[in-house]
Amino acid sequence: MTRQQQVVIVGGGVIGLLTAFNLASEVQSVVLLDRGNVGQESSWAGGGIVSPLYPWRYSPAVTALAHWSQDFYPQLGERLFAATGVDPEVHTTGLYWLDLDDEAQALAWAERENRPLRAVDISAAHDAVPVLGSGFSRAIYMADVANVRNPRLVKSLKAALLALPNVTIHEQCEVSGFIREDGAVVGVQTSAGAIHGDQVVLTAGAWSGDLLKSLGLDLPVEPVKGQMILYKCASDFLPSMVLAKGRYAIPRRDGHILIGSTLEHEGFDKTPTESALESLKASAVELIPALADAEVVGHWAGLRPGSPEGVPYIGRVPGFDGLWLNCGHYRNGLVLAPASCQLFADVMLGRAPIIDPAPYAPTGRRSDEGALNPTLIS
Ligand SMILES: Cc1cc2nc3c(=O)[nH]c(=O)nc-3n(C[C@H](O)[C@H](O)[C@H](O)COP(=O)(O)OP(=O)(O)OC[C@H]3O[C@@H](n4cnc5c(N)ncnc54)[C@H](O)[C@@H]3O)c2cc1C
Repeated sequence: MTRQQQVVIVGGGVIGLLTAFNLASEVQSVVLLDRGNVGQESSWAGGGIVSPLYPWRYSPAVTALAHWSQDFYPQLGERLFAATGVDPEVHTTGLYWLDLDDEAQALAWAERENRPLRAVDISAAHDAVPVLGSGFSRAIYMADVANVRNPRLVKSLKAALLALPNVTIHEQCEVSGFIREDGAVVGVQTSAGAIHGDQVVLTAGAWSGDLLKSLGLDLPVEPVKGQMILYKCASDFLPSMVLAKGRYAIPRRDGHILIGSTLEHEGFDKTPTESALESLKASAVELIPALADAEVVGHWAGLRPGSPEGVPYIGRVPGFDGLWLNCGHYRNGLVLAPASCQLFADVMLGRAPIIDPAPYAPTGRRSDEGALNPTLIS
Protein backbone atom coordinates (compact mmCIF):
# COMPACT_ATOMS: atom_id res chain seq x y z
CA MET A 1 0.00 0.00 0.00
CA THR A 2 1.10 3.63 -0.49
CA ARG A 3 1.33 6.41 2.07
CA GLN A 4 -1.53 8.28 0.35
CA GLN A 5 -4.17 6.01 1.79
CA GLN A 6 -7.00 6.31 4.28
CA VAL A 7 -7.24 3.45 6.76
CA VAL A 8 -10.54 2.75 8.52
CA ILE A 9 -10.23 0.87 11.83
CA VAL A 10 -13.30 -0.86 13.28
CA GLY A 11 -13.19 -1.07 17.09
CA GLY A 12 -11.34 1.15 19.55
CA GLY A 13 -10.08 -1.19 22.25
CA VAL A 14 -6.39 -1.33 23.03
CA ILE A 15 -5.78 -3.15 19.73
CA GLY A 16 -7.63 -0.61 17.56
CA LEU A 17 -6.17 2.37 19.42
CA LEU A 18 -2.60 1.14 19.17
CA THR A 19 -3.07 0.06 15.55
CA ALA A 20 -4.26 3.59 14.78
CA PHE A 21 -1.31 5.09 16.68
CA ASN A 22 1.23 2.98 14.80
CA LEU A 23 -0.28 3.68 11.37
CA ALA A 24 -0.89 7.41 11.84
CA SER A 25 2.66 8.45 11.03
CA GLU A 26 2.78 6.20 7.99
CA VAL A 27 -0.45 6.84 6.06
CA GLN A 28 -2.44 9.87 4.96
CA SER A 29 -5.30 9.47 7.40
CA VAL A 30 -6.76 7.09 9.96
CA VAL A 31 -10.44 6.88 10.91
CA LEU A 32 -11.17 4.93 14.09
CA LEU A 33 -14.77 3.85 14.70
CA ASP A 34 -16.36 2.51 17.86
CA ARG A 35 -19.97 1.76 18.54
CA GLY A 36 -19.56 2.97 22.13
CA ASN A 37 -16.80 5.10 23.54
CA VAL A 38 -13.30 3.83 22.80
CA GLY A 39 -11.56 1.70 25.41
CA GLN A 40 -14.64 0.77 27.43
CA GLU A 41 -14.94 -2.94 26.68
CA SER A 42 -12.47 -5.75 27.39
CA SER A 43 -9.51 -3.38 27.32
CA TRP A 44 -11.04 -1.48 30.24
CA ALA A 45 -12.31 -4.56 32.08
CA GLY A 46 -9.10 -6.60 32.05
CA GLY A 47 -6.59 -6.96 34.86
CA GLY A 48 -3.58 -5.68 32.94
CA ILE A 49 -1.00 -8.28 33.91
CA VAL A 50 1.81 -7.80 31.40
CA SER A 51 2.28 -11.55 31.02
CA PRO A 52 0.12 -14.52 30.12
CA LEU A 53 -1.13 -16.02 33.42
CA TYR A 54 0.85 -19.25 32.89
CA PRO A 55 3.27 -18.28 30.13
CA TRP A 56 4.81 -21.75 29.83
CA ARG A 57 1.45 -23.23 28.81
CA TYR A 58 1.22 -21.15 25.62
CA SER A 59 2.45 -21.78 22.07
CA PRO A 60 5.64 -20.18 20.72
CA ALA A 61 3.39 -17.82 18.73
CA VAL A 62 1.93 -16.26 21.90
CA THR A 63 5.31 -16.31 23.64
CA ALA A 64 6.99 -14.38 20.81
CA LEU A 65 4.42 -11.56 20.99
CA ALA A 66 4.47 -11.54 24.79
CA HIS A 67 8.24 -11.24 25.09
CA TRP A 68 8.49 -8.41 22.58
CA SER A 69 5.68 -6.53 24.33
CA GLN A 70 7.03 -7.07 27.85
CA ASP A 71 10.32 -5.48 26.87
CA PHE A 72 8.51 -2.61 25.14
CA TYR A 73 5.86 -1.75 27.79
CA PRO A 74 7.98 0.49 30.05
CA GLN A 75 8.96 2.75 27.15
CA LEU A 76 5.40 2.78 25.80
CA GLY A 77 4.16 3.88 29.22
CA GLU A 78 6.76 6.64 29.48
CA ARG A 79 6.13 7.86 25.96
CA LEU A 80 2.35 8.04 26.44
CA PHE A 81 2.71 9.75 29.81
CA ALA A 82 5.07 12.36 28.35
CA ALA A 83 2.80 12.96 25.35
CA THR A 84 -0.55 13.12 27.17
CA GLY A 85 -0.04 13.65 30.91
CA VAL A 86 -2.04 10.45 31.54
CA ASP A 87 0.18 7.82 33.16
CA PRO A 88 -0.67 4.21 32.18
CA GLU A 89 1.20 3.18 35.35
CA VAL A 90 3.35 0.31 34.16
CA HIS A 91 4.00 -1.13 37.61
CA THR A 92 6.71 -3.79 37.93
CA THR A 93 5.82 -5.77 41.06
CA GLY A 94 6.89 -9.30 40.17
CA LEU A 95 4.53 -12.27 40.38
CA TYR A 96 4.39 -15.28 42.74
CA TRP A 97 2.75 -18.46 41.42
CA LEU A 98 1.67 -20.67 44.33
CA ASP A 99 1.24 -24.47 44.53
CA LEU A 100 1.52 -25.11 40.81
CA ASP A 101 0.93 -28.61 39.44
CA ASP A 102 3.32 -27.98 36.54
CA GLU A 103 6.14 -26.22 38.36
CA ALA A 104 8.78 -28.37 36.66
CA GLN A 105 7.46 -27.41 33.22
CA ALA A 106 7.43 -23.75 34.26
CA LEU A 107 11.06 -23.87 35.36
CA ALA A 108 12.12 -25.76 32.23
CA TRP A 109 10.36 -23.16 30.08
CA ALA A 110 12.10 -20.34 31.92
CA GLU A 111 15.47 -21.98 31.36
CA ARG A 112 14.73 -22.44 27.67
CA GLU A 113 13.36 -18.94 27.17
CA ASN A 114 15.94 -17.30 29.43
CA ARG A 115 13.30 -15.71 31.70
CA PRO A 116 14.10 -14.88 35.35
CA LEU A 117 11.61 -17.34 36.87
CA ARG A 118 12.87 -19.32 39.88
CA ALA A 119 11.62 -21.52 42.69
CA VAL A 120 11.61 -19.78 46.09
CA ASP A 121 11.12 -21.08 49.58
CA ILE A 122 7.53 -20.48 50.74
CA SER A 123 8.90 -18.65 53.78
CA ALA A 124 10.66 -16.22 51.42
CA ALA A 125 7.32 -15.60 49.69
CA HIS A 126 5.76 -14.84 53.10
CA ASP A 127 8.63 -12.50 53.97
CA ALA A 128 8.19 -10.63 50.68
CA VAL A 129 4.36 -10.63 50.85
CA PRO A 130 3.40 -10.62 54.54
CA VAL A 131 -0.36 -10.59 53.76
CA LEU A 132 -0.13 -13.87 51.79
CA GLY A 133 -2.40 -16.66 53.10
CA SER A 134 -0.88 -19.53 55.05
CA GLY A 135 -2.42 -22.35 52.98
CA PHE A 136 0.33 -22.58 50.37
CA SER A 137 3.43 -24.77 50.42
CA ARG A 138 5.36 -23.95 47.20
CA ALA A 139 6.12 -20.82 45.19
CA ILE A 140 7.89 -19.74 42.06
CA TYR A 141 8.66 -16.08 41.38
CA MET A 142 9.43 -13.89 38.41
CA ALA A 143 10.70 -10.45 39.38
CA ASP A 144 10.22 -8.51 36.16
CA VAL A 145 6.48 -9.01 35.64
CA ALA A 146 4.54 -5.75 35.52
CA ASN A 147 0.91 -4.77 35.41
CA VAL A 148 -0.49 -1.84 33.48
CA ARG A 149 -3.44 0.24 34.65
CA ASN A 150 -5.41 -0.55 31.54
CA PRO A 151 -8.24 2.00 31.94
CA ARG A 152 -5.52 4.65 31.98
CA LEU A 153 -3.65 3.04 29.11
CA VAL A 154 -6.68 3.34 26.83
CA LYS A 155 -7.39 6.87 28.08
CA SER A 156 -3.84 7.87 27.34
CA LEU A 157 -3.89 6.25 23.89
CA LYS A 158 -7.10 8.10 23.06
CA ALA A 159 -5.54 11.42 24.15
CA ALA A 160 -2.43 10.70 22.06
CA LEU A 161 -4.59 10.00 18.99
CA LEU A 162 -6.75 13.10 19.46
CA ALA A 163 -3.56 15.18 19.27
CA LEU A 164 -2.71 13.82 15.81
CA PRO A 165 -4.09 15.94 12.93
CA ASN A 166 -4.66 13.02 10.53
CA VAL A 167 -6.59 10.80 12.97
CA THR A 168 -10.38 11.03 13.42
CA ILE A 169 -12.22 9.12 16.12
CA HIS A 170 -15.95 8.51 15.68
CA GLU A 171 -17.57 7.22 18.87
CA GLN A 172 -21.17 5.97 19.10
CA CYS A 173 -20.69 4.83 15.51
CA GLU A 174 -21.65 1.21 15.01
CA VAL A 175 -20.36 -0.70 12.01
CA SER A 176 -23.02 -3.00 10.56
CA GLY A 177 -21.25 -4.31 7.46
CA PHE A 178 -18.64 -3.85 4.77
CA ILE A 179 -18.82 -2.02 1.44
CA ARG A 180 -17.49 -4.07 -1.47
CA GLU A 181 -16.52 -3.12 -5.00
CA ASP A 182 -15.30 -5.74 -7.47
CA GLY A 183 -14.62 -8.13 -4.59
CA ALA A 184 -12.49 -5.65 -2.65
CA VAL A 185 -13.53 -4.10 0.66
CA VAL A 186 -13.60 -0.32 0.24
CA GLY A 187 -15.35 0.84 3.40
CA VAL A 188 -17.94 0.12 6.04
CA GLN A 189 -21.62 0.76 6.62
CA THR A 190 -22.20 2.50 9.93
CA SER A 191 -24.98 4.00 12.01
CA ALA A 192 -23.68 7.36 10.73
CA GLY A 193 -23.69 6.29 7.06
CA ALA A 194 -21.08 4.87 4.71
CA ILE A 195 -17.41 5.49 5.47
CA HIS A 196 -14.92 4.71 2.72
CA GLY A 197 -11.30 3.75 3.09
CA ASP A 198 -8.53 2.25 1.02
CA GLN A 199 -7.94 -0.33 3.75
CA VAL A 200 -10.28 -1.56 6.50
CA VAL A 201 -8.90 -3.12 9.68
CA LEU A 202 -11.12 -5.20 11.96
CA THR A 203 -10.13 -4.76 15.61
CA ALA A 204 -13.56 -5.34 17.13
CA GLY A 205 -12.43 -7.72 19.88
CA ALA A 206 -15.05 -10.33 20.84
CA TRP A 207 -17.41 -8.96 18.16
CA SER A 208 -14.99 -9.54 15.27
CA GLY A 209 -16.30 -13.00 14.35
CA ASP A 210 -19.88 -11.74 14.26
CA LEU A 211 -19.02 -8.83 11.98
CA LEU A 212 -17.27 -11.07 9.46
CA LYS A 213 -20.39 -13.22 9.10
CA SER A 214 -21.84 -10.49 6.88
CA LEU A 215 -19.09 -11.39 4.38
CA GLY A 216 -19.83 -15.12 4.68
CA LEU A 217 -16.61 -15.63 6.63
CA ASP A 218 -16.34 -17.91 9.62
CA LEU A 219 -13.73 -16.61 12.07
CA PRO A 220 -13.61 -18.54 15.37
CA VAL A 221 -13.43 -15.47 17.63
CA GLU A 222 -16.01 -15.70 20.39
CA PRO A 223 -16.81 -13.83 23.60
CA VAL A 224 -15.51 -15.36 26.84
CA LYS A 225 -16.88 -13.53 29.85
CA GLY A 226 -14.58 -12.62 32.71
CA GLN A 227 -15.58 -11.05 36.03
CA MET A 228 -13.32 -9.13 38.41
CA ILE A 229 -13.67 -7.52 41.81
CA LEU A 230 -11.80 -4.57 43.30
CA TYR A 231 -10.65 -3.64 46.81
CA LYS A 232 -8.98 -0.46 48.07
CA CYS A 233 -6.17 -0.90 50.59
CA ALA A 234 -3.12 1.06 51.70
CA SER A 235 -0.64 1.66 48.89
CA ASP A 236 1.95 -0.71 50.41
CA PHE A 237 -0.57 -3.45 51.32
CA LEU A 238 0.37 -5.91 48.55
CA PRO A 239 3.92 -5.54 47.21
CA SER A 240 3.66 -8.20 44.50
CA MET A 241 1.13 -9.96 42.31
CA VAL A 242 0.12 -13.41 43.56
CA LEU A 243 -1.62 -16.23 41.71
CA ALA A 244 -3.04 -19.62 42.75
CA LYS A 245 -5.61 -21.97 41.18
CA GLY A 246 -6.21 -19.62 38.28
CA ARG A 247 -7.11 -16.67 40.50
CA TYR A 248 -4.85 -13.67 41.04
CA ALA A 249 -4.42 -10.44 42.98
CA ILE A 250 -2.99 -7.39 41.22
CA PRO A 251 -1.86 -4.32 43.18
CA ARG A 252 -2.13 -0.88 41.57
CA ARG A 253 0.23 1.81 42.79
CA ASP A 254 -2.46 3.56 44.84
CA GLY A 255 -3.48 0.42 46.79
CA HIS A 256 -6.37 -0.74 44.63
CA ILE A 257 -6.28 -4.54 44.47
CA LEU A 258 -7.94 -6.38 41.60
CA ILE A 259 -9.00 -9.99 42.02
CA GLY A 260 -9.77 -12.01 38.90
CA SER A 261 -11.18 -13.68 37.13
CA THR A 262 -13.91 -16.01 35.95
CA LEU A 263 -14.00 -17.77 32.58
CA GLU A 264 -17.58 -18.12 31.35
CA HIS A 265 -19.21 -18.91 28.02
CA GLU A 266 -22.37 -16.80 28.18
CA GLY A 267 -22.48 -15.28 24.70
CA PHE A 268 -22.40 -11.48 24.70
CA ASP A 269 -23.96 -11.15 28.17
CA LYS A 270 -21.73 -9.18 30.52
CA THR A 271 -23.91 -8.94 33.57
CA PRO A 272 -21.93 -9.34 36.82
CA THR A 273 -23.37 -12.17 38.92
CA GLU A 274 -23.75 -12.81 42.64
CA SER A 275 -22.21 -16.29 42.33
CA ALA A 276 -19.06 -14.89 40.70
CA LEU A 277 -18.84 -12.21 43.38
CA GLU A 278 -18.92 -14.86 46.11
CA SER A 279 -16.44 -17.09 44.31
CA LEU A 280 -14.00 -14.21 43.67
CA LYS A 281 -14.30 -13.07 47.30
CA ALA A 282 -13.47 -16.61 48.45
CA SER A 283 -10.39 -16.64 46.20
CA ALA A 284 -9.37 -13.21 47.48
CA VAL A 285 -9.52 -14.37 51.10
CA GLU A 286 -7.64 -17.59 50.34
CA LEU A 287 -4.84 -15.59 48.70
CA ILE A 288 -4.93 -12.70 51.19
CA PRO A 289 -6.92 -13.40 54.37
CA ALA A 290 -6.95 -9.74 55.44
CA LEU A 291 -9.29 -8.99 52.53
CA ALA A 292 -12.05 -10.71 54.53
CA ASP A 293 -12.37 -7.43 56.43
CA ALA A 294 -12.14 -5.21 53.38
CA GLU A 295 -15.00 -3.87 51.31
CA VAL A 296 -15.45 -4.78 47.65
CA VAL A 297 -15.51 -1.38 45.89
CA GLY A 298 -16.04 -2.61 42.34
CA HIS A 299 -17.35 -5.64 40.44
CA TRP A 300 -17.62 -5.88 36.66
CA ALA A 301 -17.45 -8.20 33.67
CA GLY A 302 -15.83 -7.96 30.27
CA LEU A 303 -15.80 -10.07 27.11
CA ARG A 304 -12.47 -11.49 26.02
CA PRO A 305 -12.04 -12.12 22.31
CA GLY A 306 -11.58 -15.90 22.56
CA SER A 307 -9.68 -17.63 19.75
CA PRO A 308 -8.16 -21.08 19.19
CA GLU A 309 -5.18 -21.42 21.57
CA GLY A 310 -5.37 -17.68 22.15
CA VAL A 311 -3.33 -16.95 19.02
CA PRO A 312 -4.52 -13.68 17.49
CA TYR A 313 -5.31 -13.14 13.81
CA ILE A 314 -2.96 -10.53 12.40
CA GLY A 315 -2.86 -9.78 8.69
CA ARG A 316 -4.71 -9.66 5.41
CA VAL A 317 -7.96 -11.56 4.80
CA PRO A 318 -7.47 -13.87 1.83
CA GLY A 319 -9.85 -13.22 -1.06
CA PHE A 320 -10.96 -9.82 0.27
CA ASP A 321 -8.56 -7.12 -0.91
CA GLY A 322 -8.46 -4.18 1.45
CA LEU A 323 -9.64 -6.14 4.54
CA TRP A 324 -7.29 -6.83 7.46
CA LEU A 325 -7.59 -8.40 10.91
CA ASN A 326 -5.96 -7.66 14.24
CA CYS A 327 -8.19 -9.54 16.68
CA GLY A 328 -8.68 -12.66 18.80
CA HIS A 329 -6.20 -11.90 21.60
CA TYR A 330 -8.29 -13.81 24.14
CA ARG A 331 -6.84 -13.60 27.69
CA ASN A 332 -3.71 -11.67 26.68
CA GLY A 333 -4.72 -8.69 24.61
CA LEU A 334 -3.18 -6.16 26.98
CA VAL A 335 0.19 -7.84 27.13
CA LEU A 336 0.20 -8.73 23.44
CA ALA A 337 -1.02 -5.35 22.16
CA PRO A 338 2.32 -3.58 21.53
CA ALA A 339 3.83 -6.46 19.55
CA SER A 340 0.59 -7.30 17.73
CA CYS A 341 0.09 -3.72 16.59
CA GLN A 342 3.72 -3.26 15.62
CA LEU A 343 3.64 -6.53 13.67
CA PHE A 344 0.36 -5.51 12.07
CA ALA A 345 1.83 -2.21 10.86
CA ASP A 346 4.95 -4.00 9.58
CA VAL A 347 2.87 -6.44 7.55
CA MET A 348 0.47 -3.81 6.20
CA LEU A 349 3.25 -1.40 5.25
CA GLY A 350 5.52 -4.07 3.82
CA ARG A 351 8.31 -3.42 6.36
CA ALA A 352 10.64 -6.04 7.80
CA PRO A 353 8.48 -7.60 10.55
CA ILE A 354 9.56 -7.60 14.21
CA ILE A 355 8.81 -11.34 14.39
CA ASP A 356 7.74 -14.00 11.90
CA PRO A 357 4.14 -13.10 10.96
CA ALA A 358 3.25 -16.58 9.64
CA PRO A 359 1.64 -18.06 12.81
CA TYR A 360 -0.90 -15.21 12.97
CA ALA A 361 -1.73 -14.87 9.26
CA PRO A 362 -5.44 -15.53 8.70
CA THR A 363 -4.43 -17.36 5.52
CA GLY A 364 -1.90 -19.63 7.13
CA ARG A 365 -3.85 -21.21 9.99
CA ARG A 366 -4.70 -24.86 9.59
CA SER A 367 -8.41 -25.57 9.68
CA ASP A 368 -8.14 -27.62 12.89
CA GLU A 369 -6.56 -24.56 14.52
CA GLY A 370 -9.43 -22.42 13.40
CA ALA A 371 -8.67 -21.07 9.96
CA LEU A 372 -10.65 -18.30 8.39
CA ASN A 373 -13.12 -20.40 6.45
CA PRO A 374 -15.34 -18.97 3.79
CA THR A 375 -18.58 -20.65 4.74
CA LEU A 376 -22.12 -20.74 3.50
CA ILE A 377 -24.22 -18.64 5.81
CA SER A 378 -27.80 -18.35 4.70
C1 LIG B 1 -11.71 -10.07 33.35
C2 LIG B 1 -10.63 -9.93 32.32
C3 LIG B 1 -9.30 -9.95 32.72
C4 LIG B 1 -8.27 -9.79 31.78
N1 LIG B 1 -6.98 -9.72 32.21
C5 LIG B 1 -5.99 -9.52 31.31
C6 LIG B 1 -4.65 -9.39 31.74
O1 LIG B 1 -4.36 -9.41 32.94
N2 LIG B 1 -3.67 -9.25 30.80
C7 LIG B 1 -3.96 -9.22 29.46
O2 LIG B 1 -3.04 -9.11 28.65
N3 LIG B 1 -5.23 -9.31 29.02
C8 LIG B 1 -6.25 -9.47 29.91
N4 LIG B 1 -7.54 -9.59 29.48
C9 LIG B 1 -7.81 -9.68 28.03
C10 LIG B 1 -7.78 -8.32 27.38
O3 LIG B 1 -8.56 -7.43 28.11
C11 LIG B 1 -8.30 -8.44 25.93
O4 LIG B 1 -7.63 -9.48 25.24
C12 LIG B 1 -8.09 -7.15 25.15
O5 LIG B 1 -8.56 -6.04 25.88
C13 LIG B 1 -8.78 -7.21 23.80
O6 LIG B 1 -8.66 -5.93 23.19
P1 LIG B 1 -9.48 -5.59 21.90
O7 LIG B 1 -9.11 -4.21 21.52
O8 LIG B 1 -9.30 -6.67 20.90
O9 LIG B 1 -11.02 -5.70 22.35
P2 LIG B 1 -11.96 -4.68 23.15
O10 LIG B 1 -11.22 -3.94 24.18
O11 LIG B 1 -13.16 -5.44 23.57
O12 LIG B 1 -12.34 -3.62 22.04
C14 LIG B 1 -13.19 -3.93 20.95
C15 LIG B 1 -13.91 -2.64 20.58
O13 LIG B 1 -14.65 -2.86 19.39
C16 LIG B 1 -15.86 -2.14 19.50
N5 LIG B 1 -16.84 -2.72 18.59
C17 LIG B 1 -17.36 -3.97 18.66
N6 LIG B 1 -18.26 -4.14 17.67
C18 LIG B 1 -18.29 -2.98 16.97
C19 LIG B 1 -19.03 -2.54 15.83
N7 LIG B 1 -19.93 -3.34 15.22
N8 LIG B 1 -18.83 -1.28 15.38
C20 LIG B 1 -17.93 -0.46 15.98
N9 LIG B 1 -17.21 -0.84 17.06
C21 LIG B 1 -17.38 -2.08 17.55
C22 LIG B 1 -16.24 -2.26 20.96
O14 LIG B 1 -17.15 -1.25 21.35
C23 LIG B 1 -14.89 -2.18 21.64
O15 LIG B 1 -14.57 -0.87 22.06
C24 LIG B 1 -8.59 -9.68 30.40
C25 LIG B 1 -9.92 -9.63 30.00
C26 LIG B 1 -10.94 -9.75 30.94
C27 LIG B 1 -12.37 -9.66 30.48
